[in-house]
Formats: sequence, structure tokens, C-alpha cells
Amino acid sequence: MKIVLASSNRGKIREIQEYCKHEVLAYSDVIAPFEIIEDGKTFQENALIKAEAIYEKIKDEMDDFVVLSDDSGISVPILGNAPGIYSARYAGEGASDKENLQKLIDEIKKLNISRTPAFYTAAMAIVTAKGERFGVHGWMHGEVIDHARGENGFGYDPIFIPEGFDQTLGELDSDVKKRLSHRSKAIRLVGKILSTL
Ligand code: IMP
Repeated sequence: MKIVLASSNRGKIREIQEYCKHEVLAYSDVIAPFEIIEDGKTFQENALIKAEAIYEKIKDEMDDFVVLSDDSGISVPILGNAPGIYSARYAGEGASDKENLQKLIDEIKKLNISRTPAFYTAAMAIVTAKGERFGVHGWMHGEVIDHARGENGFGYDPIFIPEGFDQTLGELDSDVKKRLSHRSKAIRLVGKILSTL
């Protein structure tokens, strides 16, 4: 069985491959890349939209496969759970990770606070060759602070301090993130589902 990932991000492919014994492919290795409008209201809806769109296009091309997709982001309760599903474009369509991070720092500063609770979410969806659907979530809780610290990780990591730590994910060793992260928790659950198929 092959796992067709609804992403062409090589970093994600490598990360998922570490948890699965099956071969992991980018969907763009199987079919021409196409635009998928992610207009769901939750991480899980968006993950399922991506997996279903790719399933519809490849189901006649392949036999033994599952499509796996993910959607992730950071939520800050005091900001009404923003940026949430808009994490990748918080500072506007096409914004860089750096611009999105700065926007979140600015929003925290506007509240005149230096730290506030926050959490990362990773939703993953699986659609099997038979058309069965599965969904899992992983979370990482902690706090965000009003200034960036450290160079590790990506996205909002330089301002995120995981629960039980004093350093940001930008400062902590990447192994710590690998152990704790929303994505690794979700991937472990995906691994369990795949082992039953
Ligand atoms: P996507 O799931 O690839 O659409 O990414 C969503 C966005 O959420 C990313 O662009 C990042 O801004 C943010 N994000 C998701 N996971 C992480 C993480 O582990 N660290 C930092 N930022 C993240």
C-alpha cells in the first residue's frame, strides 16, 4: 500500500515517512498539481477537503493506496482563537512565515500583555482506496510571548513556549518538538489507523 500525501512539502513527507512503514509519495508525483480551495471552517474540514479532492483524481489511476492530508495552525484564545485555520495567511494572502509571526506579535502587544495561553492543532484526514474516511487530531498546548526568541523550528515557533518549559520552540532542541508536537501526536494516530488497513 502507498500513502499519497496531499502536499508536495518534502519536509512533511520525510516526517510522515518516519512513522509509516509504507512508501509515502507526494500527490504531485502521481498527478499534475491542481488548486484546492480550502474553504472549511475547521482544521479537520480542510484536511478532509484536500484528501477527498485528491482521492477523486487518483482513484482511477492507482489500486492500493490511501490519501493522507493535514491542516495545522496556532490558536490564541484571548484573540478569539485567531489565527487558527488562517495561520498560513494571517498577515494576508501570500504572506511569509516572518510576516505572519510579526502580525501575531503585534496583536499580542496591542493587548498590553507579554504572554498568553495558545495551542497548536494538527488535523489529519485519511481516505482509503475503498473510499473510507478517517480523521485524527493532535494538539500541543503552551503560551505565546510578545517577542521572538531562537532560530529553530518555523512559523510561530520563536514565540511559542510549550507547557512545562521556559524556552520557546525556537530555542529548544528539535527533538523536544518532535516528541511533543501536535503533528507528531496526529501522525502517531495515523500510524495506528494505517496498521489496521
Ligand atoms: P499548513 O498546515 O501547511 O497549511 O500550515 C499552517 C500554518 O500554521 C503554517 O504556515 C504555520 O504558520 C503554522 N504552523 C503549523 N504548524 C506549525 C508548527 O509546528 N510550528 C510553527 N508554525 C506552525
